[in-house]
Amino acid sequence: MGQIITLTAPSGAGKSTILGRLNSKKLFTFSVSVTTRAPREGEEDGVDYYFVSEEKFHSLLSEGKFLETAIVHGNFYGTLFSEVDQILSTDATLLLELNPEGASNAKAYYPTSVAIMILPPSYELLSERLKGRATDSVQVVQKRLSAARGEIKWGIDNADYFIINAQLDQAVEDFENIINIIKCKHSVFVENNKKYLEELTNIM
Ligand code: 5GP
Repeated sequence: MGQIITLTAPSGAGKSTILGRLNSKKLFTFSVSVTTRAPREGEEDGVDYYFVSEEKFHSLLSEGKFLETAIVHGNFYGTLFSEVDQILSTDATLLLELNPEGASNAKAYYPTSVAIMILPPSYELLSERLKGRATDSVQVVQKRLSAARGEIKWGIDNADYFIINAQLDQAVEDFENIINIIKCKHSVFVENNKKYLEELTNIM
């Protein structure tokens, strides 16, 4: 059986940068989400996303097909239970990048999922990082900063592991170490090593 890892971070904490530094494709499996936004050039239906109409999205929603949903820049996004279940039926490690609400849903439906939160070294630095992004308006930055406090409070109550992204190399190393530790956790280890453990105990 596979393992779900949820990764949550306030905007500007460096989640994408850390993931970009890892060989994520080798370490994790990612699920294909459903979205109502139009495909960008080069994007393939069923590979990058399942591209659907708003009508279809809402019918999937009312049928209870989504583990979690979000609205980003006016478009709907959702993670399908069917995708997660399919991946969980293999030995893969499924990484879900979710906001606190989505990560709470994942824990509720899949209690063995593990929640990791990436934190900025300080509120001031988070603020500086967000202001340094030339693409975002002052209002957007303010919104993200006030959301960050709530997201971090969620993490204090719900996350299983934390990474402080003060120094990128260290944060990447911490992330890899956490992934390795999760694989050694009793429930995960026993489930994923049944054959090996059976052999060991039969011989002994
Ligand atoms: P994009 O449209 O640029 O691919 O993604 C926009 C945003 O939507 C990104 O922050 C991405 O992480 C988020 N997103 C993509 N799929 C999902 C999903 O299934 N659930 C949630 N909550 N967010 C998603």
